[in-house]
Amino acid sequence: MMEIKVTLTDHPKAKPDQNKLGFGRHFTDHMFLMDYTAGKGWHDPRIVPYGPITMDPCCACLHYAQEVFEGLKAYRTADGQVQLFRPQENFKRLNTSCDRLVIPHLDEEFCLEALKKLIEIEKDWVPSVPGASLYIRPFIIARQEVLGVHPSVSYLYCVILSPSGDYYANGLAPVKIYVETNYVRAASFGGMGAYKTGGNYAASLIAQEEAERQGYDQALWLDGVERKYVEEVGSMNVFFKIDGEIITPNLDGSILPGITRKSAIQLLADWGMKVTERKLSIQELEQAAREGKLDEAWGTGTAAVISPIGELKCGDTVTIINDNKIGPVSQRLFDTLTGIQWGRLPDPHNWIVPCC
Ligand SMILES: *Cc1c(COP(=O)(O)O)cnc(C)c1O
Repeated sequence: MMEIKVTLTDHPKAKPDQNKLGFGRHFTDHMFLMDYTAGKGWHDPRIVPYGPITMDPCCACLHYAQEVFEGLKAYRTADGQVQLFRPQENFKRLNTSCDRLVIPHLDEEFCLEALKKLIEIEKDWVPSVPGASLYIRPFIIARQEVLGVHPSVSYLYCVILSPSGDYYANGLAPVKIYVETNYVRAASFGGMGAYKTGGNYAASLIAQEEAERQGYDQALWLDGVERKYVEEVGSMNVFFKIDGEIITPNLDGSILPGITRKSAIQLLADWGMKVTERKLSIQELEQAAREGKLDEAWGTGTAAVISPIGELKCGDTVTIINDNKIGPVSQRLFDTLTGIQWGRLPDPHNWIVPCC
């Protein structure tokens, strides 16, 4: 394995108030960097003081969005240890995203070791207040200094760390969702929806603005061809419980394969609950709501873990789900996933990777 060069900062920052962290606003003292040069491969892995990175204004990622990223968290357990939740899955997915955006693969095992080393250096930054964690953002940007449209010959891999607060500091409040019928997040076949790349987020901003303008929290995305099938909600995967059946859209190429989604499906199976991965049309959803069969709905993702949906607006029809309260299945998933992540519950599937 390549040796990681460490340069520690002379100016450690004052740590922010753990009870007022918010999300993605504070960053730790150090970051991990590694370069890629064609013919040489990935080289010069290093941990350096956190700070600006220089880029030529013509560099590829700034113009053609050749970049990919990941998002995961480090959790501090009651005995002070720091642990990760299924990090191998994140590095595997990062490489899948790299394939789609023609970015060279990273060595997944090396990336995990490098991440552990970075977190060990930043251990004191991992929050200890309930619900707070250290958010981890690995990303790769194309760095070749040329305006021509083709895959870059040089890249930068970077990992930054952000102590972040409890997503549910004000309780597990259900969100209000608006069904987006004008804009699509991702194309259905051959697009980038299944990959974690900034372009998908750029495409989603306008719908988020529209949702907020209409007094909603997030947009529910429909498929890009027929505007008929449910795909995701905001930047989360989505689950519905209809007449006893738990349904989540199948991964058909336009849906991001969430690690929280995968974990939720496993837990539901463990509990003997029927989960179906299949297409779900907005008409079926509306009909279920009309007939009082829409028992529960929730989103899944690393940031919120489980985000119950309390209200769904489709056209002029507004449906209140489970009396605008978190339902029993969403609550059980939330308690179990966060219990495993923070080390309060046993980890039957070996999802936890101890860090430091
Ligand atoms: C990251 C992401 C998710 C959730 O994935 P997790 O691995 O569960 O965090 C869902 N949808 C989109 C569009 C995403 O970018």
